[in-house]
Amino acid sequence: MAWLPTDDGIAVSAEIECGSAVEIEASPGRVSFAPGEDAVPHEVQITGPISCYNACLALRNEAAEERSVTVEVRIPPWLIEAGFDYFLRKEYLTAPLEEGGGPLPRPATDWRMIPPERQRSLDATVELDLTLGAGEALVLSSIEHYPVTTCNERLRELAAAPDARLVTIGQSVQGRPILGVEVGDADAPRRAVFTGTLQPGEPSAWAVLAMIEAAIDGRAWRDGWSLCFVPQTNPDGIFLGRCNTNARDELAAFGFEEAAAGSDFCPEEVRVLWSYLSERPPVVYVDFHFLRHPNHPFTKPYFFDPAIYDAPEVAAAAIALNERYMTLSGADRPHYVEVGHEMWRGLASYQAAAALDAVAFLYQYTGPTTSLQGAQAVGPQVMIAALEECGALG
Ligand SMILES: [Zn+2]
Repeated sequence: MAWLPTDDGIAVSAEIECGSAVEIEASPGRVSFAPGEDAVPHEVQITGPISCYNACLALRNEAAEERSVTVEVRIPPWLIEAGFDYFLRKEYLTAPLEEGGGPLPRPATDWRMIPPERQRSLDATVELDLTLGAGEALVLSSIEHYPVTTCNERLRELAAAPDARLVTIGQSVQGRPILGVEVGDADAPRRAVFTGTLQPGEPSAWAVLAMIEAAIDGRAWRDGWSLCFVPQTNPDGIFLGRCNTNARDELAAFGFEEAAAGSDFCPEEVRVLWSYLSERPPVVYVDFHFLRHPNHPFTKPYFFDPAIYDAPEVAAAAIALNERYMTLSGADRPHYVEVGHEMWRGLASYQAAAALDAVAFLYQYTGPTTSLQGAQAVGPQVMIAALEECGALG
């Protein structure tokens, strides 16, 4: 692995799971880098989704004493010009670097916020003051990454519970298994599916793994359901530190209209997820999104116009579930999506509603006050509300 050394003993590298730093410059006491960007034209990005919020770099102190270093994140000028630099002006985190156990070193999952007094948002940069003990290695990141290898280890542990099982729903472009856990009787009358977004820059696995833990604990709301969970639908993107793309530089959250029409002109991960959804259409499907994000005012559900549903009782359940999600998020309105919307009809959740007549939501736990701990708390509540409101369907 390529570590860039400095004269004072601090070495830096982006060759870690989820690493995304580029153009790294290192001198004694100072490290500077730019965030890696998805290979998507800027003019496409500024109409959404932006893919420049994933700044992730490893630092190691190879000196025999403590060392302090200032790390500068260079915000791309086009992002500032387009008014989207807030994606990188946020609270950064660190986690220990774990070496061994995976194909590359990876961040551990005990992320800590860097105290505000050690962060500065300047004209074209963000600066962070770090102190590393002798021999200490850590990851600096703008995102609470859940590494793919760590997630797969956790899924195997969870699947050892009595009525849980590990499933491989398909493979990514680079041949990584796309793993899920199913809980409850596979032949139960009703199926529910919960996924983490195909946008790899959003660490939604935190919420979906918490749903699995709650489902394994099991309560009355679980009876009669086959519960299916896929926390990381785009593992290549997460491994490679992308924001919105897969290993073929395709925007991985879109293409479900084509997939639902039986076309192969969609990202491979989209094809895999669509076949998992459509092989036995769920009664309810929720795609969970999560990003700490200073400029999204509140967390909210994406609410598809109920005319999208064929059966009146399905539409009624969607309306009731939207009310639950509004209460849960504290939003005064959902993100309303009209039938046939040019962009949103490409989403998994839209097509689950339109083509499978499943009550379907994109739940966006994205806002200025969201947190990793919050995602772990909200995820199970999103699941339980879905099961309670859709328990009479199917
Ligand atoms: Zn999202």
